[in-house]
Amino acid sequence: MATMEEVLKALMEQQKVIAAQMEEQNQKIEEQQRLFGRMVDQFKEFEKAMEYARCQEETVQALKLQEKSSKFTTPVQKSMLPTPSKMGTTAFSHQSNVQKPPPRFIPASERAEKIAKGLCYYCDKPFERGHKCANRTTQLFLVEPHPKQILSQRIKKRGSRAAVQYLVEWEGVPATEATWEWAAEFEQRFPHFQL
Ligand SMILES: [Zn+2]
Repeated sequence: MATMEEVLKALMEQQKVIAAQMEEQNQKIEEQQRLFGRMVDQFKEFEKAMEYARCQEETVQALKLQEKSSKFTTPVQKSMLPTPSKMGTTAFSHQSNVQKPPPRFIPASERAEKIAKGLCYYCDKPFERGHKCANRTTQLFLVEPHPKQILSQRIKKRGSRAAVQYLVEWEGVPATEATWEWAAEFEQRFPHFQL
């Protein structure tokens, strides 16, 4: 028959075992919590890494776009220059895109007249030494080439007839660039030209 003292001692032993087990459990729980915390941290790191990767991807995409757009703008700028097929039709509308007025056309006859009167053919003011033309910098001019001299002439078949052609040397253009022009049209274009 166990004594009261023996029972209490056994109970206390059991208490100690349970307490030790509980302590062990607590340690396990704490360890689990630490592990869970580390996993959360790792997940956050992973998220950060993903965000970083996304940012990088976006940056790469932005750079690619920039590269594309710069590749794209180059031919656009080039196309602003009038191409032979577009000459005189859309060439001027391209000019208006860059907010410049369309070039003002100065026929050779008008130019010759202004020169004869001693006027600047860009702004109609007296053309004096050192004339600084304000129009020259703000307005684009298309000056019709002016004939310098007739180098030669010939007779060519024109349709069913024969017609005269002049070999025209143009002002400011080398003589080697002289062009053959039909005499009839030439005299119409440059009525004041002394043949
Ligand atoms: Zn002027």
